[in-house]
Amino acid sequence: MLQIRSFTKKYGEKCAVDNLSLSIAPGEICAFIGHNGAGKTTTLKACVGLIDFDGGDILINGMSIKERPLECKLILSYLPDNPDLYDFLTGEKFLNFIADVYGVGTEERRARIADLAERFSLTKDLSQPIGSYSHGMKQKLAIISAWLHSPRLILMDEPFVGLDPKASFTLKEMMREHCAGGGAILFSTHVLDVAEKICDKVAIIKNGKLVITGPMDEVRGNESLEEVFLELEGDGE
Ligand code: ATP
Repeated sequence: MLQIRSFTKKYGEKCAVDNLSLSIAPGEICAFIGHNGAGKTTTLKACVGLIDFDGGDILINGMSIKERPLECKLILSYLPDNPDLYDFLTGEKFLNFIADVYGVGTEERRARIADLAERFSLTKDLSQPIGSYSHGMKQKLAIISAWLHSPRLILMDEPFVGLDPKASFTLKEMMREHCAGGGAILFSTHVLDVAEKICDKVAIIKNGKLVITGPMDEVRGNESLEEVFLELEGDGE
């Protein structure tokens, strides 16, 4: 579903991500872990066509994001770390706008918005302007919008930040359901116990280089993900 091949991104002289390769198959949830500034956001943004890059290629369902960006974007969705929504729109108008962009039909959008808003206890708030929402409510709305067009691949940058415990639980459930239905997810997080619980796969990046990737059980062995991460962080310092 997602193949990152020798991805390299430079900002001026600085190499933010160096020769990173990673694959996510249908049905997999992969946690993308790394210290602040390691290169996670840069990689996720490149995967969804938000930034250009200097080397390698990124394939979405076999299509290059550089060569066929629109076709790729139709089957993926991206939740940024700080969703920048339109404060002057109501939640409902925003979701309808997103549904229009992705060509989601009237009946389907009505059913999906009703279901997703209910799951996040946001139904009543949809008639209110986004500017009146709390940070967590904005995050819930952004998650609903990411799920709205039934994408096959979902990329999320620290999706649990700002969510209350019930919404976190709902998101974890939705992630599992998405992958049980053949979808795939790559998400960055600093919450290692969540990653450990819900992910089949993990990728750890350090200073722009992928230091380890594989099935969660194999990467962890008899240790916790936190122990593995801290050991890798300590290496070479
Ligand atoms: P965090 O966990 O703090 O969100 P991250 O792993 O997502 O970090 P990135 O945001 O990808 O890290 O940043 C990787 C490196 O690239 C950092 O050194 C950062 O300073 C640099 N960087 C990111 N965006 C830019 C930019 N627009 N211009 C210059 N340098 C950038």
